[in-house]
Amino acid sequence: MVRAQAKTQAPKAATTGSLSDADIEAALTEAYNKFKDLKEGKNADYIKELANVDPNIFGIVLITTDGRVFTKGDITSMVSIQSVSKVFTMAKVLEEQGHQAVMDKIGVDATGMRFNSIVAVELQRGKEINPLVNPGAIAASSLIGGADSAAKWKNIMDIHNQFAGRQLSVNWPVYVSEAGDNLRNQAIAHLLKAYNRMYFDPVQATDIYTKQCAINVNAKDLATMAATLANGGVNPVTKKKVVSPETVMYTLPVMATAGLYDDSGIWLYNSGLPAKSGVGGGLLAVCPGKFGIAAVSPPLDAAGNSVKSQKAINYVVEKLKADPYLVQPK
Ligand code: GLN
Repeated sequence: MVRAQAKTQAPKAATTGSLSDADIEAALTEAYNKFKDLKEGKNADYIKELANVDPNIFGIVLITTDGRVFTKGDITSMVSIQSVSKVFTMAKVLEEQGHQAVMDKIGVDATGMRFNSIVAVELQRGKEINPLVNPGAIAASSLIGGADSAAKWKNIMDIHNQFAGRQLSVNWPVYVSEAGDNLRNQAIAHLLKAYNRMYFDPVQATDIYTKQCAINVNAKDLATMAATLANGGVNPVTKKKVVSPETVMYTLPVMATAGLYDDSGIWLYNSGLPAKSGVGGGLLAVCPGKFGIAAVSPPLDAAGNSVKSQKAINYVVEKLKADPYLVQPK
């Protein structure tokens, strides 16, 4: 009797919690097919080079904390990481200086305003700026370890490489395009300096920040970075420790409250997941202990978040019942 039963049972699929390979594959395929032809949104064009990126790039990748990789669509086209980089520079500053320093020297409360708001800095007189929007991110670049600009930049590039599990590179045309035109970010850095909340030369800190935003990534890189956060700071693909579990613990709440700028609340309401977007069209989200997911699609909505990436990730999260606030009563 027992033997007969065993014989008819299908081989057990690999699982993360209750997530089977088949469930994940089906969710990604459905999300991809549902949104691939959507024509909403517009590439960022305030950084001129971003307007030239192919708006049809669309890829989704999910990587589990046990290192299984699931891909759908275009996972090789590179886009600039833009604001998604803010997460990894923040994590490195947390790792170097601890959570109290990040709270005291930068601030962690959401501004609720646009990512490059000068009013947000002015209202708080430079206090309570957030590392996941431009003022706090430029402050984070100024705080990162390194005696000079080159050492700070190397530190930033290294942490991105470790999260991605491979050597990344800078998209120089995007860097040059933004560096020649970022008076607003320079104004933010100088205003912070005036409030004693800038910890390195403001022009150089803005330059490092601009370079970090121009790092090239594809959907798989972003998903690996997200999966490293989901896995307590150990990259589940390379198996190498990148940051401590405590650093991740202090990074994810800021992503949850400020990762999608002034639309962070709407995002969290719909997905329940800490996430980060960038104006290059990348978006990553973290399901702690389970998986990292990312999508790339350049056209953005009014808040500056990728339209398709938001929809695709939300669809997968709902399909996999991965919202951590969804609890089945005992
Ligand atoms: N480099 C961009 C800027 O500073 C990043 C903004 C973003 O992705 N939201 O404007």
